[in-house]
Amino acid sequence: MLSIKNLHASIGDKEILKGINIEVKAGEVHAIMGPNGSGKSTLSAVIAGNENYEVTDGQVFLDGEDLADLAPEERAHKGVFLSFQYPVEIPGVSVTNFMKTAINETRKANGQEEMPANEMLKVIREKSELLEIDRKFLSRSLNEGFSGGEKKRNEIFQMAMLEPKLAILDETDSGLDIDALRIVANGVNKLKSEKNAIIVITHYQRLLDYIVPDFVHVLYNGRIVKSGGKELAYELEEKGYDWIKAEN
Ligand code: ADP
Ligand code: MG
Ligand code: MG
Repeated sequence: MLSIKNLHASIGDKEILKGINIEVKAGEVHAIMGPNGSGKSTLSAVIAGNENYEVTDGQVFLDGEDLADLAPEERAHKGVFLSFQYPVEIPGVSVTNFMKTAINETRKANGQEEMPANEMLKVIREKSELLEIDRKFLSRSLNEGFSGGEKKRNEIFQMAMLEPKLAILDETDSGLDIDALRIVANGVNKLKSEKNAIIVITHYQRLLDYIVPDFVHVLYNGRIVKSGGKELAYELEEKGYDWIKAEN
């Protein structure tokens, strides 16, 4: 589904990604781990089409299509979802209204009709129950005064509603207490299917107790320096990142 080939990306004249190769198939969960400053967020931003980064070499393919010329919203319409490490506040727009707009824009971009209002309400009810989100929360202004946990839960709610083909969760676990972490992870696990893929970016192994990855990649200094199964996450938890730094 997602095929990243020899991806190089820079910001200004600083090269941050230095030749990334990753293959993600439908149905798989991949974890990307690594020390701070390795390029994890840059990689997710480049996949999502963030125009602050310049791709200087290599390609990102989604279902065989080179995404190079597609704007971030076009990528989103094709099913790429990136959670935000620092989500924006939109005063006066409720969580529900934001979701309705996002869903209908996606449908429109894919040549579909708007979702009928009653169906929309039904889906919103189902997904919010799945993620243990209460009614009051749905009528609040987007991200305004949200706690860290509420922001994260809202991101997962957006993901549940949009049912993306490829979901990238960038440090969705940071700032979550253990209950919020469990709810977010349960939500992600319930959304997993044979048709979609998930990339979980995390600094810590903790989240991976709940969202069990098929593959773990270690990103360091702009390169994937190690890949393995879920046992690699435990090894990192135990040994830290120093040995990775020493080897590279
Ligand atoms: P990670 O998510 O692994 O912590 P990032 O992708 O955020 O790493 O950052 C990788 C490197 O790129 C860091 O050295 C960071 O300082 C640099 N970097 C990221 N974004 C910018 C930016 N907008 N301007 C300058 N440097 C940046
Ligand atoms: Mg960072
Ligand atoms: Mg980051």
